[in-house]
Amino acid sequence: MEKEVLVVGAGLGGLTTALRLAKKGYDVEIIEKNNQAGGRLNQIKKDGFTFDTGPSFFSMSYEFKEFAKDCGIELPFEFIELDPLYTVNFSDSPKTYTLYKDIDKLAAEFAEKEPDFKEKMLKYLGKSGALYNDTVDIVIKSNFDSVLQYLITLMKVNPVHLPVLLKTFWQQVEQHFDSKEAQQIISLIAFFLGRTPFDTSAVYTLLSHIEFRHDGYYNVKGGMYKIVEGLVDELKKAGVKINYGVEITGFKQKDGKITKLIDQTGKVWTASAYVINADAAVFRGRVLNKRKYRESKLRKMKWTMGYLTFYIGVKGKLPQVNHHNYFLGSNYKDYALKVLKQPDTLEKPYYYVNMLSKHNDDCAPEGCESLFFVCPVPNMLYKKNWDDKDKIVDSIISDFSKRIGQDITGSIISKTIYTPVEWEKYFNLYMGSGLGLSHHMMQIGAFRPANKDEDYNNVFYVGASTVPGAGLPMAVISSKLTAERVKNHFNE
Ligand SMILES: Cc1cc2nc3c(=O)[nH]c(=O)nc-3n(C[C@H](O)[C@H](O)[C@H](O)COP(=O)(O)OP(=O)(O)OC[C@H]3O[C@@H](n4cnc5c(N)ncnc54)[C@H](O)[C@@H]3O)c2cc1C
Repeated sequence: MEKEVLVVGAGLGGLTTALRLAKKGYDVEIIEKNNQAGGRLNQIKKDGFTFDTGPSFFSMSYEFKEFAKDCGIELPFEFIELDPLYTVNFSDSPKTYTLYKDIDKLAAEFAEKEPDFKEKMLKYLGKSGALYNDTVDIVIKSNFDSVLQYLITLMKVNPVHLPVLLKTFWQQVEQHFDSKEAQQIISLIAFFLGRTPFDTSAVYTLLSHIEFRHDGYYNVKGGMYKIVEGLVDELKKAGVKINYGVEITGFKQKDGKITKLIDQTGKVWTASAYVINADAAVFRGRVLNKRKYRESKLRKMKWTMGYLTFYIGVKGKLPQVNHHNYFLGSNYKDYALKVLKQPDTLEKPYYYVNMLSKHNDDCAPEGCESLFFVCPVPNMLYKKNWDDKDKIVDSIISDFSKRIGQDITGSIISKTIYTPVEWEKYFNLYMGSGLGLSHHMMQIGAFRPANKDEDYNNVFYVGASTVPGAGLPMAVISSKLTAERVKNHFNE
C-alpha cells in the first residue's frame, strides 16, 4: 500500500501529525482552508504591530521536547519559563495578586486573606499531583479501542481518587481554601478548559499541579506564532507541501474507505489515508454526513464557551502592565454561572490581557504596546448577534484604563475584533466555541469523538475535539496518538 497521507487542516494538531509521519517515511501533504498555517494558534500583523490571536502561553513543555525527540529534530522555537506565572486583579480591591510557582512567595501574596495558605496549598497540590501521576500515562496519553477498554483502565486508577469523580472543580477548591480570593484564583484555570469551575469535574484539579508544580507555563520568544513558523520550516525540509485556501466540503467512499476528498471548487484530493485536523465532531457531521453528528445531534453536545478577542496597538508605553494579567469582577460565582449562556453578563465582563510587546520589542513600533484581550462569552448557541461588539470592547477598554491608572482610549492606533462569528468563520469552530467540545465526563476518553473513524478504516482525526482534548500540549499528545493509529493502519 502506498504510504500517502493527506492531512486536512494546518492547526497545531495537523502540523505535528504531518511532521511525525513525514519523519517516518510517509508521503504527506497538507491542505488548509485559510491562507496561513496555525489554526487557532495564529497571528495578526497589522499597522506595524504583531499579535498572537489565540494561545498566549503553554504548559507541559516536556510534551514539545518529546515531540522534537520523536521527530529527530531540535525544537524549532525557543520557549521561556514564566515566573511569575500571571497576575490577578479584582475590581473591588486595589491589590493585584502575583502568582508565583515558589510556594513561599505565593503564600506571602495571600498572607492577609488566607493565613495558612502554604499548608492548604501543599495539601491541595498533593492531591492534584497524585491524580496527575496516576492518570497521565494510562488515561490521557493512551488510545482506547472501546468504551469497555477505557472503563477497565479507569478501574485501574488508584481508588483514592474516587471522590473527585463526584465533585466539581469549585467544590474541591472550596474544600481546601477559605478566602474568596484563594478560591477564585486557584479555580480560574477551569476557564482554560472553556467552561467554568462550577461545571468542570474536580478530576481537572490535576491542572493545578501542572500549573504550580510540574513545569508551570511558558512563553515563546518572538511570540507564540514562532511555533508555527518553526514547524512549517521543518515540514518544508521534510518535503511536505501545504496547500492553502483549500476547504474540504465533500467526499467519495467505497468498501469502507474514503477514496476522495472534494474541496470547495470541486477539485478532488486523493491519498491512501486521511488525517482530519478540522473539528472531529463538526467534520463528521457536516462533511461526512454522519447521522450521529447531524445538526440536531451536534447542537445537543456540550460545547465550550465562545471568546471575544481583540487586538489593539497603543501609542505609549504601559510599564505597569505585566505580560499575563487577569481582571476579575466582584461577583465570581454569579458571573461564572451565567457567562456560558446569558449575554447580559457582558455588561461587566471578566477578561485576560496579554502584552506581547512586554518582552518582545519587535512586536510593536517603538514607544508602543501590542495588547491582546480575551473575554469569555456565550458561544453562538446562546448569542447569535454580535452587533454590540464595539460597545462591549469599549467597556472593557474603559475598565482596563481605570484598573491600570492610565487612560488608553485616545492612544489606540490599531484595533481588530474577533467575536464567536469570526472564530467560527475562520476555523470552522462549531458556533464559535473557542476550545471545541467541552471536557464533560461523557465527552472525554472513549466517549469523545474517536481519533479513528468508525466507518472508514483509512480516516483518522487529530486536535481539540478528539482525544485527549483542548490546549497546545494536548494537540501535541493527540498527534502522537493519531500517528500511532496511522502506523497501525499501515501495519507498522
Ligand atoms: C482565544 C483562545 C485562546 C487560547 N489560549 C490558549 C493558551 O493560552 N494555551 C493553550 O495551550 N491553548 C490555548 N487555546 C487552545 C488552543 O488554541 C487549541 O486547543 C489548539 O490550538 C487547537 O489546535 P487544533 O490543531 O486542534 O485545531 P485548530 O487550531 O482549530 O486547527 C484546525 C485547522 O483546520 C482547518 N480546517 C477546518 N476545517 C477545514 C476544512 N473543512 N478543510 C480544510 N481545513 C479546515 C482550520 O482552518 C484550522 O487551521 C486557546 C484557544 C483560543 C480560541
